[in-house]
Order: sequence, then structure tokens, then C-alpha cells
Amino acid sequence: MRKIAIYPGTFDPITNGHIDLVQRTLKIFGEVIIAVAPSQKKEPLFTIEERLGLIEESIKKLKGARVEAFNGLLVDYARSRKSIAILRGLRAVSDFEYELQMALMNRRLNANIETVFMMPSEEYTFLTSTMVKEVASFGGAVKGLVPAVVENALRDKFKIKS
Ligand code: ADP
Repeated sequence: MRKIAIYPGTFDPITNGHIDLVQRTLKIFGEVIIAVAPSQKKEPLFTIEERLGLIEESIKKLKGARVEAFNGLLVDYARSRKSIAILRGLRAVSDFEYELQMALMNRRLNANIETVFMMPSEEYTFLTSTMVKEVASFGGAVKGLVPAVVENALRDKFKIKS
């Protein structure tokens, strides 16, 4: 049976760090579902529809990857998709405590679903969606850090002169 992993997050917007992680995971799992949370509390820059569209465009060439929006409890959503694993990324040590807390809570809620951590390529270790937005908002170049569609979408949002 194809092993399915769920990759949950806000993806506001998707970066090359996220893509790097999906590519690595596809070497182990038959399918990766990128699950986009609305995350209203975080006041995202991109709407959920925009985030879904940007991801869809960015993963076109990745066989086995797809994207969906999700609401509610992550473990319930994972079970509904017959997923055996939740994928999360670990960049620096600073990610660790929050990720550990969440992994243990999810295990408590459903002990059959494992959280799998992956590390991105070194060049993306310090890359966050927040930083990308900040740089783009001041007109800085984000080429190489995000897919081309995202670069264009950021330019439109911030009306950056190219
Ligand atoms: P969340 O709001 O859940 O933190 P994000 O979209 O910021 O959502 O991140 C989703 C997941 O991707 C998290 O596990 C995060 O650690 C991971 N991630 C984000 N950026 C990178 C990156 N540059 N390299 C590897 N993993 C990353």
C-alpha cells in the first residue's frame, strides 16, 4: 500500500525550504499531501485560495505531491486521508521545543500516527516565510528562496518595481 504523509502548515507563502522537504519525503513516502491551515490568527498575507494556488503551481512537477486545505484537528484530518505520518521540518534548534510539544500532543490524540521530522538542505536552514515576506515588503530580492510564481505574487502584493 502507498504510504501517505501529511505536511501541515500555513505556507504563507510556500518557500523552497518547504519544497525541499517535500522532495525528500517523496523518497520515503508514496504520497505527500500538503495540508494548508487557514491560520486566521496569524493574519496571513495570502488568502487560503492564493496559498493553495501558489502551492499547486509550485509542485506541478513533483509526482506524488498534492495540496489541500484543512480545518479542525490535524490527527482527525490525517486519519481521514489514511495517512500514517505527519511531516514537519526542523531548521534550527529554535524549532525544536514547539515541534516536540506538538508531536507529543498529536501522539496523545492518536498514537497510530507518527510525526516525522526532516531537515532541509543547508541553504534553506534559516529560511522562513516570515523572513521572505519581510524582505519582499522592502523591495529586496527573494529569487532562489521561493518558486518563481511566489516571487511574482510577492511582487504584486508589494508592488515591487522590477
Ligand atoms: P506553521 O504555521 O505550521 O509553522 P509553516 O508554513 O511556517 O507553518 O511551516 C510548516 C512546516 O514547514 C513546519 O514544520 C516548519 O518547521 C517547516 N518549514 C518551514 N520553513 C522551512 C524550511 N526553510 N526548511 C525546512 N522546513 C521548513
